Amino acid sequence: MSIEPFELFAIRYGHLGDRHPDENFIAADPHEFASDLDYFVWVARRSDSTFVFDTGFSEEAAARRRRNWIRHPVDSLRLIGVDPGRVTDVVITHLHYDHAGNLDRLPLARFHLQDREMAFATGRSMCHGVLRAPFDLENVLQMVRHVYNERAAFHDGDYELAPGLTMHRVGGHSAGLQSARVWTRRGWVVLASDAAHLYDNFEKRRPFPVVYNVSEMLEGFDLLYRLADSPAHIIPGHDPLVMRRYPAPSAELEGIALRLDAPPTQD
Ligand SMILES: [Zn+2]
Repeated sequence: MSIEPFELFAIRYGHLGDRHPDENFIAADPHEFASDLDYFVWVARRSDSTFVFDTGFSEEAAARRRRNWIRHPVDSLRLIGVDPGRVTDVVITHLHYDHAGNLDRLPLARFHLQDREMAFATGRSMCHGVLRAPFDLENVLQMVRHVYNERAAFHDGDYELAPGLTMHRVGGHSAGLQSARVWTRRGWVVLASDAAHLYDNFEKRRPFPVVYNVSEMLEGFDLLYRLADSPAHIIPGHDPLVMRRYPAPSAELEGIALRLDAPPTQD
């Protein structure tokens, strides 16, 4: 393909340990392994463009929800040479608190999101505590402000952001969840975001318990396989194994950032 490939980065900004198996899988065995969660933002960059995927949570949200906040997810973009003050395109994979905080920190950005996600986060489903729990009202209100400021870019289903970068509505975990398919030097890589929190979710077809529609979540696992060049081209949204499998961009960024356009090691 003659399209310039994207460099693809992950930056780890948060962590959550001491989990119970049924926080990772529906109908888990109480004695099985319970993976921790890592929290990431992602960047696709090439000579003509930079796209940021998600904006993480704030220090305040981390304290309130008892997550380990390692670094500011937006300020950390500078570590890989991206100035948050100059970013023009941010994809919000969904509006959960850990993907759509800090929306006031990117002054020039347009925010790409699915129609259905905004309708879900502001509609009747939010009358139910269990569906509302992963959202923070302040984030949703900030996105409403961006709608009124003409900084929201709405999409309905699949779309192309740029040659070599398409977005795909998955649903499942949240009504308007979207995953990214990115052309890189190793082929088509899929940023699943929360279409799969962990490798075990899609590899073992085991749904994550924070879910809007279990059937769509299971169909979403199949979609990830169809979009990616191989199973090793699928990047789950929260798996600590991602940190082990991909190299850092430089020695100074060891344990902080990753190159997802490099081939993974298998462990
Ligand atoms: Zn989520």
